[in-house]
Amino acid sequence: MKKENHEQMRKRHEKEIEELQNNCKHEKISDWMDHYWAPGHWGGKVKVCEFCNEIIEKQKPDYIIPSTISTGKGEWNESL
Ligand SMILES: [Zn+2]
Repeated sequence: MKKENHEQMRKRHEKEIEELQNNCKHEKISDWMDHYWAPGHWGGKVKVCEFCNEIIEKQKPDYIIPSTISTGKGEWNESL
């Protein structure tokens, strides 16, 4: 029995999603919403296709303030 490991499964899903997005006409676009590129990491506002979830428009905020300036970790402050 052939088993996919995590990496293979991730790649397969990426390819399927890419095909879905390539074939989608993006007819239904969401309003501006918060985009998290990783859990807890806010990446600005985006508009996405409600069908395939592709990012259609991006708005990089120019007011991102690191919430941990003193520690130098540079975490985004999500409350903004
Ligand atoms: Zn779409």
